[in-house]
Amino acid sequence: MVYDIDMIKSFYSAYKRKMEHVRAVLKRPLTLAEKILYTHLFDEAVLKDYKRGEDYVNFRPDRVAMQDATAQMALLQFMNAGKEQVAVPSTVHCDHLIQAYKGAREDIATATKTNEEVYDFLRDVSSRYGIGFWKPGAGIIHQVVLENYAFPGGMMVGTDSHTPNAGGLGMVAIGVGGADAVDVMTGMEWELKMPKLIGVRLTGELNGWTAPKDVILKLAGILTVKGGTNAIIEYFGPGTESISATGKATICNMGAEVGATTSLFPYDERMAAYLRATGREEVVMLAEAVAADLRPDDEVMALPEKFYDRIIEIDLSELEPYINGPFTPDAATPISEFAEKVLLNGYPRKMEVGLIGSCTNSSYQDISRAASVARQALEKDVAISSPLIVNPGSEQIYATAERDGMITLFQQIGATIMANACGPCIGQWKRHTDDPMRKNSIVTSFNRNFAKRADGNPNTFAFVASPEIVMALTIAGDLCFNPLKDRLLTHDGEKVKLNEPVGDELPVHGFTSASDGYLAPAGSQVEIKVDPHSTRLQLLTPFPAWDGNDLLNMPLLIKTQGKCTTDHISMAGPWLRFRGHLENISDNMLMGAVNAFNGETNSVWNRLTNMYGPVSGTAKMYKSEGISSIVVAEENYGEGSSREHAAMEPRFLNVKVILAKSFARIHETNLKKQGMLAITFKDKADYNRIQEHDLISVIGLQNFAPGRDLEVIVHHEDGTKERFAVQHTYNEQQISWFRAGSALNNNGLKN
Ligand code: SF4
Repeated sequence: MVYDIDMIKSFYSAYKRKMEHVRAVLKRPLTLAEKILYTHLFDEAVLKDYKRGEDYVNFRPDRVAMQDATAQMALLQFMNAGKEQVAVPSTVHCDHLIQAYKGAREDIATATKTNEEVYDFLRDVSSRYGIGFWKPGAGIIHQVVLENYAFPGGMMVGTDSHTPNAGGLGMVAIGVGGADAVDVMTGMEWELKMPKLIGVRLTGELNGWTAPKDVILKLAGILTVKGGTNAIIEYFGPGTESISATGKATICNMGAEVGATTSLFPYDERMAAYLRATGREEVVMLAEAVAADLRPDDEVMALPEKFYDRIIEIDLSELEPYINGPFTPDAATPISEFAEKVLLNGYPRKMEVGLIGSCTNSSYQDISRAASVARQALEKDVAISSPLIVNPGSEQIYATAERDGMITLFQQIGATIMANACGPCIGQWKRHTDDPMRKNSIVTSFNRNFAKRADGNPNTFAFVASPEIVMALTIAGDLCFNPLKDRLLTHDGEKVKLNEPVGDELPVHGFTSASDGYLAPAGSQVEIKVDPHSTRLQLLTPFPAWDGNDLLNMPLLIKTQGKCTTDHISMAGPWLRFRGHLENISDNMLMGAVNAFNGETNSVWNRLTNMYGPVSGTAKMYKSEGISSIVVAEENYGEGSSREHAAMEPRFLNVKVILAKSFARIHETNLKKQGMLAITFKDKADYNRIQEHDLISVIGLQNFAPGRDLEVIVHHEDGTKERFAVQHTYNEQQISWFRAGSALNNNGLKN
């Protein structure tokens, strides 16, 4: 069965006409990203050549996907929007709340019990409002979307930062906060700054140990964690055709690690093969009819410098496997240099656990290539030195890999097969460890490796690599092992080398049909219950509107130092259970951020007590006294996840302003949507002027206007004052969100 085939048919039947209109107005050759964006304008009548990186544009995406941790807040907001049904096909996926501990069967049973209230709520709201519901254990959102919903040329938003995974099937798929998803689900315009375009030209062919993952690991090193901000990464060139659709998805998935709005590949035979293998021949036929417009125009391919804002060249034939980390996914090192880096920096050399899977790397091809390496360990009689954990991406992948003997093979080498869920990738890992204080290394095929992300332990050095490299290092148990040149000892003391991995792009005998993990919606008769005494779920009260005054004499809550990701602002792991309860989850606010004045986490000066205390506790005390506060931060504040809790928590605790050197895209939008003031230093050196006991005012809000700077006055403890200009990226509409108290309040005013 092809889900939402009527929507897909109507999309393709309109695509040709819309493209003709776009060409008639723009009168120039087009990249693929432009074709998809311009055919998804909310209002075709306002079509013009939008300025990339400047103009805000309203779009009409085709669908929405939500994972369980973010869906709670998204749906709580949707319930306040007063609609009877979602306006576009939408789905909820129960993948983040399953803790990896003993193995799939037991962990799902535990999760079903522990999260019963949340799962019931998500199921009932989905059913009531016409949203498809994927049960716990059915799979990870992005893998399930790729297998069932993504289609070339389409556009979707998802409440998860790795939504761009669907770019592997030629879809513009963008990670957003729940409030954005609500816009799309209520049929309103969805706004995005017209992204810049980074063209990545791929030549040559992947070979040997090199995998699709290495394309993005290398690119992360080139672009760094913010180099893709407000840009779409569009891959083109002959090398694209040598990469499977699932390999393309891996590359697009991790575009989130460089801050890209999304990533995208042109439609080709590899995508068609994947669509057929997943039962979507009908979609192939529809896409083939418009295939010329599911790739960039020939003129763009011939002279890419003219059409993209930046061009990066990668020769796949020359590409080496990469290992990135620790603590940031852009610390890219080719494997030939990795051992030296480990020794030079004193990283713990022993590989303690290998982890394969996640939404990034659990395709049939990934699993079969990793299995080919595992099989060699058995055949060559080499001991497996480290524990292995496998998280399949979906029930379909698991069932097929099991039928084809790969799951048994992993178990033979001692692997624990976890649920088809996020598990350790989002801190849902009850790790067995003898000493959490010991520095230790793990290597994963996931996408992120921020401190504490996998197991909550700051002493864990996490590195990311392809599944086949993870497998090789797991066998060796040594971070300095390079399977391209090093040898392993057999039980008889013989030295052997691992052969290059091999694997099938798609299963020779087809995918086995997965057990039924999908629940279709029932309709308006479904009753939704939220216990007012629940600790997991809480109905939302709208945030108050702006009172019309400047923000005066706000105490500095925290001046953060260094990286401050959404994990630092609103931790995952054990806190995931409060994602539907704003008051309770606010207790974790900024607990991972480093206080610039004492170098400690979760310890800030409280001007009411003149003592140090937790960030949220301090903000709560200020709030109880009617005092607003301000947070000051460095570069790329809010990088990482799409979780809007990182914006809603400060809003809930009366933080009025985040003043940063720069923001990550999704988080900046989330702050604006929740009615916060997100401003940046005009001169980044002004960050150094902020002192611990300062009171800070933001003035000029009566004249808040697009492109017009605001002013900050810092009142130091010694009675001196400093003033400096700050800037913002609010447009008229976003300013109206600020005035109304949130985008949702503002939409309510419009309805
Ligand atoms: S990146 Fe990790 S946590 Fe996020 S959806 Fe993928 S598997 Fe889940």
